Amino acid sequence: MSTSTVSPERTPAPPIQKETTVGNYFVSNYPPFSFWKQDRVGELYEALERPPKPGVPLGIYMHIPFCRKRCHFCYFKVYTDKDSAAIRGYIDAALKELSIYAAKPFIGGRKPNFVYFGGGTPSYLSVDQLKHLTNSMKAMLSWDEVEEVTFEAEPGTLTDHKLKAIREMGVTRLSLGVENFDDHILEINGRAHHSKEIARAYAYAREIGFPQINIDLIAGMVEETEPNWKENIRKTIEMAPDSVTVYEMEIPYNTTIYKQMKTEGKLVAPVADWETKRRWVDYAWNELSQAGYTISSAYTAVRNPEKTKFIYRDRLWAGADLLSLGVASFGHIGGIHYQNHHDFDPYVAKVTAGELPIYRALTPSGEERYIREFILQLKLGRVSRNYFADKFGTDPCTQFAKPIQTLTDWGFLAVDGDNIRMNREGLLQIDKLLHEFFLPEHRNARYA
Ligand code: SF4
Repeated sequence: MSTSTVSPERTPAPPIQKETTVGNYFVSNYPPFSFWKQDRVGELYEALERPPKPGVPLGIYMHIPFCRKRCHFCYFKVYTDKDSAAIRGYIDAALKELSIYAAKPFIGGRKPNFVYFGGGTPSYLSVDQLKHLTNSMKAMLSWDEVEEVTFEAEPGTLTDHKLKAIREMGVTRLSLGVENFDDHILEINGRAHHSKEIARAYAYAREIGFPQINIDLIAGMVEETEPNWKENIRKTIEMAPDSVTVYEMEIPYNTTIYKQMKTEGKLVAPVADWETKRRWVDYAWNELSQAGYTISSAYTAVRNPEKTKFIYRDRLWAGADLLSLGVASFGHIGGIHYQNHHDFDPYVAKVTAGELPIYRALTPSGEERYIREFILQLKLGRVSRNYFADKFGTDPCTQFAKPIQTLTDWGFLAVDGDNIRMNREGLLQIDKLLHEFFLPEHRNARYA
């Protein structure tokens, strides 16, 4: 394949935003969620009655919407006031939901290849609740062929006893939501845990031998300073986790921080500007690279790329089926996107009545499927033209000639033979740049 040429007409400079204003730029799916509709739910029901396409892997996502406290930057629907009876009721509802799916033809004898417990805070559940949940899940759809089980954890909820139970459940990647190591910053951002709890949970998790421990950090929390950020990276490297994920702080509409901004009539969030956040993430990647890590996506560094995989991410970004359970969760089955009811009581009531709790759905067109897969994989920093040409029938350099040219002109992207590569500068702002690939009707859509 040839190397692309730059057209004589150059695109104007990229619309780089400086200050952190309200908005949600993070692209986790396509088309944007605001285009998924209640009147398309029937399309999912039809897909459930069809056998799976041969070779499509199956994953399960289990959403646990409970947290000890609501972080001020959180935009998820989380519950901090549910008692153990309500939590038990929720677990039973999610299990009932799984039992309805397990009987559908789209399963087609498949066993899940990957399982993901996200939230919220999955580690908020007690050991008994976790055992009940996972044993029942396995009884319905065996985990014999599971290659990866990911479990998100808030350090302050992890006793030794619970960590042991999580390991015994079969979890392969423990993802610790550290975010920052400084107690004042954790506190002022509304996090429930403290730095001591991070050290203790990490040490014990290491001792009992989780195959992969991931540390999650956020660049640009309220009151974050340059020395604090550097110290976070120093501590992370000292702990030597198997992988590190770093996200740049954004302030979506339904966060406590935005509500406060609105009350005070402020347009700019009280966090570092985008340029600073990009510089901090760049610093993190440089330091981690020097410490022997490989930068494996816009958000991830791994210590041993041969051993440490992100199967959930990679399968999902290549079009796997994702059976998503729990309130407000997002799934993708037989080519159809869907989301569950996003309020607790209607979700539980619907499932308890023996019905699927689907709230909205969308069948992406062939073109939209192509965009989805291409933009998600571009977050890895490199995509293969041949892969996409084989799968979708056209070379991405033809399909996306204009945005590829635009990103090339801006100096973020290069085509070389089979590879389309994003450079570091591009990856540091990938979520904003990906909007260039969107169809016109999806530009400027609120990502909610
Ligand atoms: S722990 Fe995560 S899900 Fe829970 S409130 Fe904080 S950011 Fe939101």
